Amino acid sequence: MSTTITVAKGDGIGPEITEAVLRILDAADCGLRYDFIDVGERAYLAGHSSGIPPEAWTVLRRNAVFLKGPITTPQGSGYKSLNVTIRKTLGLYANIRPCRSYHPFVRTPHPDMDVVVVRENEEDLYAGIEHRQTTDVFQCLKVLSLQGTEKIVRYAFEYSRANARRKVTCLVKDNIMKLTDGMFSDMFRRIGREYPDIGQEVQIIDIGTARVATQPSRYDVIVTLNLYGDILSDVTAELAGSVGLAGSANIGDRISMFEAIHGSAPDIAGRGIANPSAMLNAASMMLLHVDQPSKAEVIQNAWLRTLEDGVHTADIHQEGASRQCVGTHDFAQAVIARLGRKPSSLRSADLRSGTNLAFEYRRPPTKRELCGVDVFVCDDCTTPEALARRIEGALDGVLRLKLITNRGVRVWPDGFPETSCTDHWRCRLVSTDADVGTTAYPPIGRTSIIEALSLLERAGIEAIKTENLYLFDGQRGFSLGQGE
Ligand code: ATP
Repeated sequence: MSTTITVAKGDGIGPEITEAVLRILDAADCGLRYDFIDVGERAYLAGHSSGIPPEAWTVLRRNAVFLKGPITTPQGSGYKSLNVTIRKTLGLYANIRPCRSYHPFVRTPHPDMDVVVVRENEEDLYAGIEHRQTTDVFQCLKVLSLQGTEKIVRYAFEYSRANARRKVTCLVKDNIMKLTDGMFSDMFRRIGREYPDIGQEVQIIDIGTARVATQPSRYDVIVTLNLYGDILSDVTAELAGSVGLAGSANIGDRISMFEAIHGSAPDIAGRGIANPSAMLNAASMMLLHVDQPSKAEVIQNAWLRTLEDGVHTADIHQEGASRQCVGTHDFAQAVIARLGRKPSSLRSADLRSGTNLAFEYRRPPTKRELCGVDVFVCDDCTTPEALARRIEGALDGVLRLKLITNRGVRVWPDGFPETSCTDHWRCRLVSTDADVGTTAYPPIGRTSIIEALSLLERAGIEAIKTENLYLFDGQRGFSLGQGE
């Protein structure tokens, strides 16, 4: 039975590499039918701010499998990333990016490298919630959820099992972001207990990235947050030899998208020299996903054999290892000519995605108590003391000012004159029963916040944002101010 997939040829080198890949898929007799959609640059310029016309959504949702060429997002603040929109709208929560070396046929400083980055794909700083809050200060919210984190962590372990991988490394910055990244690493440790057959470690993202770059053979599967994974997987792709080699899968519960990890490479577009391998590897992952493992293997083997035979595109061409420098079209023909043949030394890649996650998230029963509010104030006051006096005077005993921070650093009480301040003040209001000098937070009522805000407004103090402070089962659901 044939499977219909959605295909977008994309922009820049997209049409060249997509056509090359479709030729290989057809020559291998994969029995696929294609519904083409026009997304990307042309759709942006036609006025669709996310680069997707409404009718394309219908096709995407109908076929459930999407092979996508790279897209150019036009410059300018009115355009939203098509990739991010598709991933989030269609719930493609896991981004899988395998990167391995093809030594000695492709130059790489790390002949043993074989790393798979499992990147969370819907949350984190990519939630796209940004604000300019005051004249001085801009903000981007980092949003992580328990369910999103559990899903990606489980996926990483399931993927590892399905592909007989040895170890999963969790990369986070939980020494600084204790609530968000801390939740991610806690979840990793908790879920990891269900996978005792797989090695597990948690590392800090900065040293972890440095080690991935210098000793990638220490790593196997890496699970990490959206932004870290984005950066890290470009590092791993480049280390493996070329961004032109690595494909990726974006997996959702119902719909999945397969694409090259590189962009539309406008610098070489239209010249017929782009390497179609990354998109071909993405297409092989797609074949496994639609349950055609034998076709995926045939194509992978033919592709590896082409590399071994020294038929290379310009991006991986090297004196000595290459015999022929070919363009996109001839490279595809070389792969087609080798369908049915096997590589002699390179081993076939692991492209299998994790099995479907049949778990149901259950929100843990939690006691949530309101215990304060952070009121963010825009003010060009001369000193924190002057602002504190105005706030204390305005509050009139409704709530108590506990501290003021500027860019997270405590500036009142007992601030240092050396701390440089912006016009953006975080003023923490708590119960009048709270003991001065302790970090205990007695409960408050919701109406006291509204009352406090109107008292501040009446005193000419401009609140630009509030953030409620909660205890969850008695545990603080907010960070302490630096120096609190
Ligand atoms: P984006 O922001 O969309 O990721 P970019 O300009 O940052 O785009 P790419 O489009 O991935 O990055 O290009 C980075 C470099 O890699 C360019 O010099 C490009 O020519 C090269 N490159 C990317 N893909 C290929 C490919 N398939 N074959 C050969 N070279 C490529």
